[in-house]
This record gives sequence, structure tokens and C-alpha cells, in this order.
Amino acid sequence: MAEIKKLLIANRGEIALRIHRACHEMGIQTVAVHSTADSDAMHVRLADQAICIGPPSATESYLNIPNIISAAEISGADAIHPGYGFLSENAKFAEIVEAHDIIFVGPKPEHIRTMGDKIEAKRSAGALGLPLVPGSAGPISDITEAKAIAAEAGYPVIIKAASGGGGRGMKVCTSEADLETLMQQAGSEAKAAFGDATVYLEKYLGNPRHIEFQVFGDGQGNAIHLGERDCSLQRRHQKVLEEAPSPVLGAEDRARMGGICAKAMADMGYRGAGTIEFLWENGEFFFIEMNTRLQVEHPVTEAITGLDLVREQIRIAEGHPLTLRQEDVQFRGHAIECRINAEDPRTFAPSPGLVKQFHAPGGMNVRVDSGLYAGYRVPPYYDSMIAKLIVYGTTREGAIRRLRRALEEFVIDGMKTTIPLHQALIEDPDFLAGNYTIKWLEEWLARQE
Ligand code: ADP
Repeated sequence: MAEIKKLLIANRGEIALRIHRACHEMGIQTVAVHSTADSDAMHVRLADQAICIGPPSATESYLNIPNIISAAEISGADAIHPGYGFLSENAKFAEIVEAHDIIFVGPKPEHIRTMGDKIEAKRSAGALGLPLVPGSAGPISDITEAKAIAAEAGYPVIIKAASGGGGRGMKVCTSEADLETLMQQAGSEAKAAFGDATVYLEKYLGNPRHIEFQVFGDGQGNAIHLGERDCSLQRRHQKVLEEAPSPVLGAEDRARMGGICAKAMADMGYRGAGTIEFLWENGEFFFIEMNTRLQVEHPVTEAITGLDLVREQIRIAEGHPLTLRQEDVQFRGHAIECRINAEDPRTFAPSPGLVKQFHAPGGMNVRVDSGLYAGYRVPPYYDSMIAKLIVYGTTREGAIRRLRRALEEFVIDGMKTTIPLHQALIEDPDFLAGNYTIKWLEEWLARQE
């Protein structure tokens, strides 16, 4: 057991604030590291110590490993939490942190590495008994082989980059005639974006939902699942609104699939928080990838389980056992999260700027995770997400009513935001019925033109 007294937060924005909050509730001091563009950020102001690690460009600041390690050494931090994005799934970073005798609040580096390569991830997932999307067993470069695999899986197929992420580096191919060209294109695009031209091939599911399971392992062979999140509402493969539980899953499906996920994590000796992502079609699950970090949408799971996931991550990093046994995990009610971006709600053009007025909604079972305050200038260099609104209700209908009311109260003056998008979205009869897939939002957006 290694007690963490001071934790460095290697991130920015709402998630840096989220981690700071968990730390202070646990009596842990925080060190904020920030770029010059983030000197005025809320978490920088709240942290016990703040260290500037570079200019606005993320490569020179939030991705600058030597500067982050120096900041940890100088401040005497005994742990680093990487948040999501940036260095959170960088196995090398995790290794360097541990080589400096600093606790990495995250999985074992080898597991980050395996799951970071989507081909390796699929291979391990298959070996651990998770159902896979039919497709190539490994990297694919030979066109004759690709044709054979595609024919067996059946068109359309999707060509994906082994090192892909953030919904990028994917090409859908509808017929054999296009396969060779698209494979070449996918390979060169992957090389340019991720420095790795390796691609693989899988069946393109026509109209699935995106359903993911939250898991936790203690690194000693014990693991639990905390149920699923439905993240089917996506634009350009980016999640927009998430809910838990999924409107289409019953307690039995949850226990069965969650059980398979937890067992897989126990068998691999997984440590910390993870998310196993599936596509779900006609009642069947197909593994697509695993994220070895905290997810943006983790608060919906917190709302329905009552567990603080960041606290749990920190406790596991300290060497404590899991707080709950599977039989102690209880799912109650329904939670929905809206990602609020500084973007035009119709064109999605980024709209950073000065926050003139800020009023967060409140009241029972309403949570806002945001680093915004009046007078703060949203910098143009990073992700456009400026707030997450999470509501909880005992039923899905109740949660939606509360969401409607909370969105009504939300005031962010000085820039365009996607609040009006969420307001319109949650009035749609399909949304109200829980009747949507990963294709639905883009079709809905096209209808709003
Ligand atoms: P990333 O790491 O870039 O997020 P994922 O493998 O998680 O990539 O896929 C992101 C999204 O792309 C999924 O949520 C889904 O919308 C779509 N997608 C991925 N694989 C398939 C597939 N085989 N069939 C249909 N859609 C897919």
C-alpha cells in the first residue's frame, strides 16, 4: 500500500478539475501543470501548486513528457493522473512515470500497449472470450487475402487503422472493385495521421448501437463491471450525448455481457479503470476496442452506481482492493450526459471566445462538470468541449424532463454552444423512445437543414 499525498494532474479543462475535486475530497494535494494558454484555468487556480510546462501547442506542453516529469520531481508529487486524451493511453509515458518511482494512476503499461494497437486488442479480446466483429485476424496488406476475407465477412466492410483513434482513419468499402484503392488510401492516411500504415479489415455493421461496459480491475486478478453506457448518439464517430443504462438492454443482458467483460479483465490481471466498447446489433455484441483510461462519459456510470470513479482509480493505484464486489454493485435509476461544445450548433464551426456570463443549472440530481466562469477566455488551441451536463432521474422519462429543465437554465454568453442542439435533440420522438443507432444523429442533422 502506497499512500498518495500529492498528485500531479497531467491534463486540462473539465477533467483536470474533476480529478482535482476527487483529490481534495480524499485529502490529497494537487499539482496543476498547464500551458501558457491555460494560466487562468479554474483547475490551475484551485490546485495547491501550479507549474507552467510550455507554450499553447499541446506537443510542447500537455504532451511534453520531460517537462511533466520535471514538474512532478520539482513539486514532489508521488502520483500522476493522466485524465483522458493527451498522454493517457501512452504506454511509454506510463513506463517513464513508473521508472521515476511515481505512481501512474492507470493500467499497467503492457495493457495500455496491447489495447492501444487495435489489432492486438482484438486478438487479446478474442482470446479472452469477447465476441468480435468478423474480419481479418491481423494486419492486412495483401489484396488477394483482403478480397477473400471481405467476401467471407460480406460487403460492406470497413478498413481501419491499427493505431487509429478519435473516430479517424476508417474507410467503408461497399464492393470488391473499390477494395484495393480504399486500402491504399486508408494506409497512407493512417501513416500520415498516426505514423503507422497498418490497417485491418472488418465487417461494416449496417445500423448498430454503440454500447460500452465500464470495468475496474485491482491488478491482482479481481475485476468488476459497472454496467454499460449507450453512446450511440454520435456525429463523425464522436459522441454527443450518452446515457446509462442503455434503453435497449435488460438486467439479464447486462449481467451476462458485463460478467464476460469482468472475467476477461480478471484473467488479464487488469488494473484500474477501463472501457470495453462494443457495437450492438440485433441483440448481439461485437467488440471494437478497449480504452485503458477514464472516459469523458464516466459520470453517467457514477450517477447510477453511486461510485466515484476517480476516487476508485486513485485507491487502486495506491494498492487498495476494489471498493465493491460485483454483488454489491447496484444499478439505480437513469442518467444522461450532454457534451456541450463551443461550436455553432448547426455548422459545428468552433466558436472559442470570452465567457461574458456563466450560469450553471442546479437543483436536485443535476451535475455540471466545467472549468468555465465569467471572464474566462476559452482558448482556441484545444478540444471544443467546455462543459458536461449530467442529470439523474429514477426513470429515463424523469431524467429527460430534468435534462430539459437544466438545459433551459444553462447560460453561457459570449460564444456559440451546442446547447440548442441538445434541446432540439431531446424533443425528438425517436430519442424519447430510445430508438436510435450510431447512424441516427447524422440523419437527424441532415433533416434539420
Ligand atoms: P476510434 O478509436 O477511432 O474511436 P472505434 O473502433 O472505437 O474507433 O470506432 C469508432 C466508431 O466508428 C464506432 O463507435 C462506430 O460508430 C464506428 N465503427 C467502428 N467499427 C465499425 C464497424 N465494424 N461497423 C460499423 N461502424 C463501425
